Amino acid sequence: MAVFKQGDHVWVSLFSNKENGVPIGAVVKDNTYPNKILIQDDEGKERWIEAQNFKSLQPMHPSSVQGVEDMILLGDLNEAGLVHNLLIRYQKNKIYTYTGAILVAVNPYQVLPIYTMDQIQLYHNQRVGQLPPHVFAIADSCYFDMKKNKRDQSCIISGESGAGKTETTKLILQFLAIISGQHSSIEQQVLEANPILEAFGNAKTVRNDNSSRFGKYIEIHFNQNGVIEGAQIEHFLLEKSRVCRQAPEERNYHIFYCMLLGMNEEQKKLLSLGTVSEYKYLTMGNCMSCEGRNDVKDYASLRSAMKVLMFSDSENWNISKLLASILHLGNVEFSAAVSDNLDCSDVMPTSHFLAAVKLLEVKNMELQSCLTNHYIIIRGEGVSRPLNILQASDRRDAFVKGIYGHLFLWIVNKINSAIFNKPSQDPQNVRRSIGLLDIFGFENFHTNSFEQLCINFANEHLQQFFVRHVFTMEQEEYHRENITWNYIHFNDNRPILDLLALKPMNIISLLDEESKFPKGTDATLLQKMNHLHSNSKIYVAPKNIHDTKFGIVHFAGLVHYQAEGFLEKNRDVLSTDIIKLIYSSKNNFLRQIFQLELSETKLGRGTIRQATFPDTLSKNADATKRPPTLASQFKQSLDSLLKILKHCQPYFIRCIKPNEF
Ligand code: ATP
Ligand code: MG
Repeated sequence: MAVFKQGDHVWVSLFSNKENGVPIGAVVKDNTYPNKILIQDDEGKERWIEAQNFKSLQPMHPSSVQGVEDMILLGDLNEAGLVHNLLIRYQKNKIYTYTGAILVAVNPYQVLPIYTMDQIQLYHNQRVGQLPPHVFAIADSCYFDMKKNKRDQSCIISGESGAGKTETTKLILQFLAIISGQHSSIEQQVLEANPILEAFGNAKTVRNDNSSRFGKYIEIHFNQNGVIEGAQIEHFLLEKSRVCRQAPEERNYHIFYCMLLGMNEEQKKLLSLGTVSEYKYLTMGNCMSCEGRNDVKDYASLRSAMKVLMFSDSENWNISKLLASILHLGNVEFSAAVSDNLDCSDVMPTSHFLAAVKLLEVKNMELQSCLTNHYIIIRGEGVSRPLNILQASDRRDAFVKGIYGHLFLWIVNKINSAIFNKPSQDPQNVRRSIGLLDIFGFENFHTNSFEQLCINFANEHLQQFFVRHVFTMEQEEYHRENITWNYIHFNDNRPILDLLALKPMNIISLLDEESKFPKGTDATLLQKMNHLHSNSKIYVAPKNIHDTKFGIVHFAGLVHYQAEGFLEKNRDVLSTDIIKLIYSSKNNFLRQIFQLELSETKLGRGTIRQATFPDTLSKNADATKRPPTLASQFKQSLDSLLKILKHCQPYFIRCIKPNEF
């Protein structure tokens, strides 16, 4: 019997298979018939519900009808209730909602008038919950807690690509810079670090026109009066492959387009540069401009930001030279040749090749030989083996990725040297910090590789951190205070972390071991993983011996990884030939960026990464001492990040990318 009145709000389960479907909200439009009801659902669709399906309608709790600012107040506390609440708020441009202490932010994709100076003043010195939910309320609470409790704070900002993590980070930074109120040059410098990082580390992807292709943790330092006295940036895993390859509809890093459009003709001439369409590395995605971005204006902002961050004119010019050399290298072509019955290749003597030689300040013959030959040591004796066209292009791309990766590292360090101030030794003036983590969300693409494994590994750690914090701490507190409660069961992802990195013979350690082993290949890695982990419910072995994909059942779902290429990506070593070439270059800046690893300090905590590269740069360029693998570097920076997060009071911000409708 239909008991609903016109205008009643209901939940409707439109799905026969309950497990797949979440009920959707709806309003009763017509109840005048005995055997059917007309409803209009949250998507605006009208449907007749026949009498036999009346049971699919459930009354909606009044809290869901009006919507709530804090979702723990929902009467219908389930997935449908959460999603519906976010939807009706979003329709009123209320993009922020709390779930207890967590802030949920739904990307508005429009500029809302909620970030003005007035709003900043409004939220400053207010307790969370007194005003409508807002990222400023969280930022203010962080600042307040830091000062009151004398404890470091952190904001962990998560969400898929395009959800709004980076924008959220910038809003918090702006808020903190304004309320900590000295209008000093250091605040300006901290804010201006962003345009630089984004120019070199962000790109247009199909998911986001300004997608960060690296993770970052910005730690802002305050003196005991709550005044900003410095900051430090740690970055994670830049996507180097983008410099040489872009998927359809995607671009290379913004900087290249900005430079070509923003630089004056005279400078471009000195670098032998033309227009965007002339460069292979800029046109692979068939997407040269990006609607809504102004590369000319961005270049001007970048230049002024670099001034604020103390990049000298000569440093700027050196950077431009390397960027130009990358573009020219991308246009270098090879012709096939045969010598001693072996496929070899020759560099075609184009103007691009000559420009690269000039900008990299290396000898013409040496660059040619480095790109087309591979130097190996056989039984103690060095021999050169020719490379075919394909191998030569790979060699060129590896060189370019090496240059860009080291350049990015140098730039982050340069920024840090401007904004980082040593803590004072005065025990009366203890430094406190607020850290903002803007890191890639969980990824599951059509093809997933080594990078996705690292990214998802990081997300497992953060999930563990989140779950432990929210559930375990809460329950421990009840226990301490002798409050009776029903044990809340939650999905603990610890077994996944065990398999990936914690227990003996874990996947990362196997990968590392195999990468160090000269005869190790992707196939031997797979064999070992299958042998050791096939019994695990979390590891999904390849279907057959020809299959090279293995699966991991992550907290967010099953991801299949293509093992091919894992070892090479993880080893991440430049060939001896390239190292020799760099060593021989007269371009001091090129040599300098490759020696950076010598004294890189991590988050100012004095852990100095062991210098291994400079050894390989020694005169005989002996590459026997390997630099740490990418996975172990990544794991190390993640471990140190987690150590930092563990001693902070954490805040969680979950960014959500709404669907297109
Ligand atoms: P990625 O992981 O790809 O780096 P992201 O989560 O960092 O993604 P953002 O770059 O922060 O995503 O956001 C994508 C776009 O969404 C922004 O360029 C901006 O246009 C819009 N956007 C995000 N948050 C807001 C906001 N609060 N107000 C207005 N627009 C926003
Ligand atoms: Mg981002």
